[in-house]
Formats: sequence, structure tokens, C-alpha cells
Amino acid sequence: MMNFERDTIAAISTAAGPGGIGIVRLSGPKAWEVGRTLFRPAKGALPDPPPTRRLIYGHIHDPASGEVVDEALAAFFKAPRTYSTEDTLELQGHAGPAVTQRVLALCLAQGCRLAQPGEFTRRAYLGGRLDLSQAEAVAQLIAAASQSEARLALGALEGGLARELAPVRETLLNVAAAVEAALDFPDEVADIITPELAQRLEREVASPLAKLLEQSQRRRVFREGAVVVLCGRPNVGKSSLFNRLLGERRAIVTARPGTTRDAIEEAALLGGVVCRLVDTAGLTDSSDEVEALGVELAKGRLGLADLALLVLDQSLPLTPEDRAALDATKDLPRLVALNKSDQPAAWDASELCSNQGSNRGSNLGSDWGLEQDRLLSVSAKQGQGMDELSAALGRAVSGGAAEPKPGEVVAGTRQREALGRCLETVQRAAEGLNGPDPEIELVSLDLNQALIALGEVDGQGAPDQVIDAVFENFCVGK
Ligand code: GDP
Repeated sequence: MMNFERDTIAAISTAAGPGGIGIVRLSGPKAWEVGRTLFRPAKGALPDPPPTRRLIYGHIHDPASGEVVDEALAAFFKAPRTYSTEDTLELQGHAGPAVTQRVLALCLAQGCRLAQPGEFTRRAYLGGRLDLSQAEAVAQLIAAASQSEARLALGALEGGLARELAPVRETLLNVAAAVEAALDFPDEVADIITPELAQRLEREVASPLAKLLEQSQRRRVFREGAVVVLCGRPNVGKSSLFNRLLGERRAIVTARPGTTRDAIEEAALLGGVVCRLVDTAGLTDSSDEVEALGVELAKGRLGLADLALLVLDQSLPLTPEDRAALDATKDLPRLVALNKSDQPAAWDASELCSNQGSNRGSNLGSDWGLEQDRLLSVSAKQGQGMDELSAALGRAVSGGAAEPKPGEVVAGTRQREALGRCLETVQRAAEGLNGPDPEIELVSLDLNQALIALGEVDGQGAPDQVIDAVFENFCVGK
């Protein structure tokens, strides 16, 4: 059984800074007691117990000095029908940073503990109100910077993934039970382990899992965004293009763990996809050492890129460095921005294309295998071609995949990893069952592994580290 003897947590649940309303939220066994101590209704006394799910107008005061701290609304929510499944209190006051901080401090002085990131949601998970994939969806919804991200998160919050996996789990459990029975009754193995069993694994488990994985991989960028690395020699206009692309398309995204801070990174909404644009600018110092570092770094970053955006200067003849950049990005998904289109062109860009029969003999030398639709003429300085480039970037990072429809499920990285492990063990089990003389013990082990992997998706039986990692990425107050 879970241990529900918990302390009471408190946090500011609204974004920092001045605003209309600032909310301090409390969850835990003492939430109401603290509320009764700090909050006084404008009229009459607070009933005991207070009405649940109703807003009460009044004031928050400091019980030590009697000083009124804010004019506020209080809402009491009775367990278990609350977000966290515990008694909850929301104090809604003015969102001045000083005021909200003071209210929080008063709660802490009353014995509350400052909530850790995502702890309200973690309690919802521990209280059985959300499964792990739904808890992840909460963080995803908060962080969503595009309509697709928000739509996918909402679908997941409503249990889309769990629904999709329910029949998979059921078959897996049934087959595992049959295999267990075969272990217990060796005389009946031939009756229990029929070809139908392996077929069911293939048809009802492996095949839907493979489909979900394939679809999730293909639509990944709509859920997780994409990394676009700008590259090219110094002075082609990378930084100018970076700033121009961001312009009004700038998206506010939360920092993603694992991203390095040694290059400039900003997010923009390009063709419906949140793209993290990485500018390797600042790596253009003339000293050799720094230059070398820059190249190294740019290469490292390129390794992480979903797409390379190679910038060339159309107004000057190609240099050996440009050719090196063309070569370095040859095997990556890439787009080429032909910058400075406001100036007369010094070379013919179509010669970069592979379908130009004449290009071997052309001035540009090698065949860089570019398709015409990968070349976009732009002027970072004057803004020409930016909408086309933005749309082309969105299309390129999504590989042409359509935006997910409402209700469609796209599993996240952690979930895909667990589902992939599940699929692998299921396929091994199916193969094992198909053999002439099946090794039932091994099959049983594989099926158990598969069930464990599946359990990690919604958190049933997920190890603590997995659960910790999920909640680490939350903001405080959610
Ligand atoms: P980076 O070194 O590749 O990041 O290049 P910058 O963005 O610093 O630009 C180098 C120079 O090219 C600057 O003087 C820019 O003003 C200029 N520049 C950038 N984009 C354009 C453009 O589209 N047209 C023209 N004419 N100049 C540009």
C-alpha cells in the first residue's frame, strides 16, 4: 500500500512577475488548517469545515502581527477529488512578486514545506489520479509552444496512450498466463502452446506496437520540436539570419536538459514546428585555436541536429570554406539558404543541384547532391524569402509528415524507449514460441520483461529513477 502520511506542501503556482492574479497553492493534510489561520472572510466567520470548491472573498493576514498582507480569494478543495488527490487550498491574491512571496512565506511559517518541481502532480500520480504518461502530459502541456504540441499533450492527458495500449497489455497478460500454465503443467504443453499463441503476439502486440512506434517516430518533431543548426563560414550572414528567423516567430520554450550553453540557442515556430535554432556564431574569431574549437563545436552540434541550415553568401564567389561546409553537411538532412539576395548574384546556385547534368564540369566543382527545393534565396538583411524559408524548414524537419490530428497518439522519447524494449522482447518471445521445441522458460522471461517495459510507460512498476526523471522536468507549483 502507498503511504499517504505526507507533509503539506506549498508553492506559488502562477508565473513570476507582476500580473492579474498570483496563486499560492497548498496540498496535504494541513492545507485547510493553514488556510483557516491565514485567511479571514470579509463577512462573518469561516465555517468549519469550509465549503469545498467555492471561492470565498476576504483577506490574508499575518497571524503573528495581525497585519493584512493581501486582499484575496480562497478556495478549499476536499480530498480526494482534487488535482493532487489531497486536501488543497488555493489563495488567489494580487500577483505582485513581493505580495505572493510573502503569502508563501506565511504558509511556510505555518509548517508547510516548499514543494519540489512537479510535486503536486507527483501526488496526483501517487494518489492514482493520473498515470505516468498523463503526468508527463501535464508538463508537456505547460511547455507546449505550438498548437500541435498542445493538442498532443491534451490527448495524452486524457489517457490516449493508455487507451491505445490497453488491448496490447491484455493480450500480453493472456499469453503470459498461458505460458505460465504450460510451465506448471508440462504434460499439457502441446495443448497450451499452439501456433495461435505466437500469432496473437504478432498480431495483437508486436504489430500495434510497431505501428505506434513508427508513427511516433515520424511525428516526433510535432511533440518534441526539432534542432536546427545554422552553419557556414564566417560572414555569410548566419547571425543575421538567426535573428531574422526568430523575429516574430520566437517561441518561449523551457530549457531542455542536456542542451549545452556554449552556442546561442533560441526557439522559433517554423511551419507549425517548434525549432530550436542553434547559431554557432561567436566561433568566428580569427585566432586559429578558437577557430579550431569552433569547427569542433559546430561538428558536435551538427551531430545533434535534426536539420542543418547551411548558409552561403550568394553575392561573393564560393570559397574553399564554403565548399568544406557543403561537404561537411553532405550526409545530413539540410537546407541551403542562399543569403544576400539583395545583392547581385556572383554565381549560379542551380549548379549546386545534382540534377544539373552539366555540374561536373561547372565552376563549382563537386556534385553536392542538392535538390532544387532545398535551395532558398533569402536576404537576412532586408527580409526577402523569410516566410518561404520558415515554411521550408518546418516541412523539412517533419520530413513532410502531416501534423497530428486531434486524438492521435505520439509517444515521447522515454515512452518510445520503453515501447521499443517491449516490442523487442515480444518479438523474441513470439520467435521462441514458433520454434519446433519451444523453450518455455525463456519465453516466459521475455514476456515478463515485456510487461515490465510496458508498465514503465504508464508507471505501473516503473523504477523510482524513471519516476524521478519524469518529475524533475516540471516547474515548481505544478
Ligand atoms: P555570420 O558571421 O555568418 O554570423 O554573419 P553576420 O550575420 O555577422 O553577417 C556578416 C555581414 O553580412 C554583416 O555585415 C551583415 O550585415 C551582412 N549581411 C548579412 N545578411 C545580409 C544580407 O542579406 N544582405 C546583405 N547585403 N548583407 C548581409
